[in-house]
Amino acid sequence: MNHSDLSYASAKKLSTMLKQGDVSALELTSHFLDRIRQLDGPLNSLITVSEEHAITAAKAADKALSDGTATPLTGIPLLHKDIFCTKGIKTTCASHMLDNFVPPYDATVVSRLNAAGTVTLGKTNMDEFAMGSSNETSFYGAVANPWDTDRVPGGSSGGSAAAIAAGFAPLSTGTDTGGSIRQPAALCGITGLKPTYGRVSRRGIIAFASSLDQAGPMTRSVEDAALMLNAMCGIDDGDSTSADIAVPDFTTLLEQDIAGLRIGLPKEYFSNDLDPQVSAQIHAALAELEKEGAKLVDIELPHTHQGIATYYVIAPAEASANLSRYDGVRFGHRCDDPKDLMDLYERSRSEGFGDEVQRRILVGTYALSAGFYDAYFKKAQQVRRIIANDFQRAFEQVDIIAGPAAPSVAFKKGEKAADPLAMYMEDVYTLSVNLAGLPGMSVPAGMIDGLPIGLQLIGRSFDEQTLLNAGHRFQQRTDWHLNTPTLAGAIS
Ligand code: GLN
Repeated sequence: MNHSDLSYASAKKLSTMLKQGDVSALELTSHFLDRIRQLDGPLNSLITVSEEHAITAAKAADKALSDGTATPLTGIPLLHKDIFCTKGIKTTCASHMLDNFVPPYDATVVSRLNAAGTVTLGKTNMDEFAMGSSNETSFYGAVANPWDTDRVPGGSSGGSAAAIAAGFAPLSTGTDTGGSIRQPAALCGITGLKPTYGRVSRRGIIAFASSLDQAGPMTRSVEDAALMLNAMCGIDDGDSTSADIAVPDFTTLLEQDIAGLRIGLPKEYFSNDLDPQVSAQIHAALAELEKEGAKLVDIELPHTHQGIATYYVIAPAEASANLSRYDGVRFGHRCDDPKDLMDLYERSRSEGFGDEVQRRILVGTYALSAGFYDAYFKKAQQVRRIIANDFQRAFEQVDIIAGPAAPSVAFKKGEKAADPLAMYMEDVYTLSVNLAGLPGMSVPAGMIDGLPIGLQLIGRSFDEQTLLNAGHRFQQRTDWHLNTPTLAGAIS
């Protein structure tokens, strides 16, 4: 068997091969573990490789395949962002604060994917506590973009995106609070879906901003994203915000045609902030959807730019509350030889958290403080409602909304690291979607000078199905999602 076929095969294809006995789950697992060992050095996309767990799970998968109890995901290798609690496997959130944390339980997403028969190969690198857009804030070092290792993979799920692009597994989980699935998916040329808030349980996912966080699939194809979402979602008693709403089989309507689908193009998404080359590629991608019978409609989302200020009050405010538990007593790193309790708190938190996390805690604490709550947090909540209303109005006219996932291709490492505001602008097209709680997806839609770009599709609440349908039709017409980078030292 030609092993390069395995590295970039979709989960769907691997599932067929497993069922036909062309390859065993154990062989697949060894193939990907070898590839990670051989090639991840310069990329740094993984924090932990869980070889022993993987081999045990692969053997169980092979048994299920021979017993006839296999599901479509049985034996498929998978990576988890290091924000998901994994029983018995270190879970750091890319922070010194949780450097030695081994969870005693699995996040609901993890246990559901385990139950579906996937094989966890390891935990992916990320921005510390999922705060960032470049994967440069990790305690374990920056992640490189496989398309150009001088560039960032995007963030915060940068390790997951880089690993999928590098052929280290067909599937990975990610989380998206303001764009962290879609923006790295765009910058690494993979498919990434942020489901509707409440679609996927947050239990066991280390909290950043609880009203915005949502987990989703990061894959090679829309078809794989549908397959993986099937296994991830559904109501969960362990998360009071998980929605009690029917879960369709997301794979069934993929092939449906999209004739007459109304796609809204917000004029604010195609303004001067957008790189003209990205804009041209997005328009070319939309022309492909028009050939499928979709209709393009000009719309407005007038408060798009207020999204950034709103998000950067709400997300840090929630983060400051969520991160208060890491005090060196209840959770997290403890400093050596504290003089007294205050010294213990101060030094444990100063040593445990990196600069960006500390910046967010300061901003968030300020926005929530008695004298400023009304001016900042309350005001931001009001603007959040206005932004959600913009989307609601737009969805009276159109079925989905399309635009870029990020303003440019992957930027150079270090280029924005010293300028937090420039970094925050990376999320201008993604974070309003979280503020409104809607589903959003990025699919590979072009290349500029050898670097991928992503088309973002945004849907109505709980209508992931229409996004998946449109994305799949797009991938039937185009080959952008089949492009793979050339990795230094790759032989298989
Ligand atoms: N880049 C955004 C931030 O730093 C979004 C991060 C995310 O979605 N986790 O907050």
